[in-house]
Amino acid sequence: MKSHCNHDYDVLVVGAGPAGLTIANLLARTSLKFTIIEKETSGQRPSRATGLQPRLLEIFEYIGIKDQVIKRAITLKGSQIFVDGNQTATVSFYDPVTNSHSLSLDQGVIEAMLAATFQKGGGVIEWGKRLVGLRRKNDRWMADIATTIPSLEYITADIIIACDGGKSTVRKFANIEFVGETYSETSFISDCRISSDLKPQYVCFLFSKEYRLVLVPFSQSKYKVSGGMHLHNSVAKRRLCNWA
Ligand SMILES: Cc1cc2nc3c(=O)[nH]c(=O)nc-3n(C[C@H](O)[C@H](O)[C@H](O)COP(=O)(O)OP(=O)(O)OC[C@H]3O[C@@H](n4cnc5c(N)ncnc54)[C@H](O)[C@@H]3O)c2cc1C
Repeated sequence: MKSHCNHDYDVLVVGAGPAGLTIANLLARTSLKFTIIEKETSGQRPSRATGLQPRLLEIFEYIGIKDQVIKRAITLKGSQIFVDGNQTATVSFYDPVTNSHSLSLDQGVIEAMLAATFQKGGGVIEWGKRLVGLRRKNDRWMADIATTIPSLEYITADIIIACDGGKSTVRKFANIEFVGETYSETSFISDCRISSDLKPQYVCFLFSKEYRLVLVPFSQSKYKVSGGMHLHNSVAKRRLCNWA
């Protein structure tokens, strides 16, 4: 593996998910010298989040993607909760502060909008660069970056912004504790087309003793279906697989 020269920045953003891309767009409006690195070689990735809280639109307006987001997203009026097939509650997603509801839009679409706006303004996302080491030197951060060539680069920065997700490498190198626990159940997530009499403006929570399912609409007939079941419960597992 070849070694390359050191790059020097005020700020290094690690990870080009929604958090990293939002921060990059905000940093682009400052005079700070920064870069954003992403270990994946492109923005194509599996399905994940959809929900957008109303106040997020204030940030999207500042960045300049609010109108595009509203045009593509669907409004979520609330959630319907079913237990053993019977509807037990409806929860409103109305936010009196903004006089609006939550929205739903695929995370991949939002990331593409954030990336396009950042790049349109001259920003560069350094795809295919993975943070593999981090240490303090002379009151600054020194980051080891593995590239796809493969080679190793060094980035020196005053500030590291860890936008590298739940399994954050930055957090581990910085010895920051991750409070929480691992669930014992198996979970899944999938994008599905569902034809049913479900109202597309509502998130559906389906609970039973065997499993839980969450159906989040993100276009007229498309739902993000996620759920979980206890590992030992093979009956539930089979039912879920048949259902999905
Ligand atoms: C399977 C799954 C299902 C989910 N479902 C939902 C849902 O239904 N609703 C919901 O609201 N949220 C959901 N989430 C959570 C949602 O995806 C996260 O809240 C959101 O992605 C967090 O954004 P982020 O930018 O902080 O991190 P991420 O989206 O995780 O982005 C982190 C980025 O950092 C990059 N990276 C990681 N390590 C390095 C490194 N060492 N060097 C360089 N780059 C690195 C990764 O490749 C990634 O692009 C789900 C998450 C997962 C994993």
